[in-house]
Amino acid sequence: MRIRTDPERCIGAGRCFLAAPELFDQNDHDGTVVVLVDQVTGDALEGARAAVDDCPTRTLSLTEG
Ligand code: SF4
Repeated sequence: MRIRTDPERCIGAGRCFLAAPELFDQNDHDGTVVVLVDQVTGDALEGARAAVDDCPTRTLSLTEG
C-alpha cells in the first residue's frame, strides 16, 4: 500500500508522528506532515492505518500500489 497525503488539509496536529514515528516526520518550516516511507507492508501497515485513523483532518489515506 502507498501512503497519500493532501497537503492542503494538514494542520500539523502531529497525531501521525505519534502513531507511527517511523513513517512520518514534521516539516521544519510549517509543521505539516512529511511521509518518510510511502510504500508500506507488514507491521508498517499497522502504523500507517493507525495514523490514517488518527488524523483529524483526513489528510492521510492508503491506496493500492
Ligand atoms: S495527523 Fe493529519 S493533520 Fe496532523 S500532522 Fe499528521 S497528517 Fe497533518
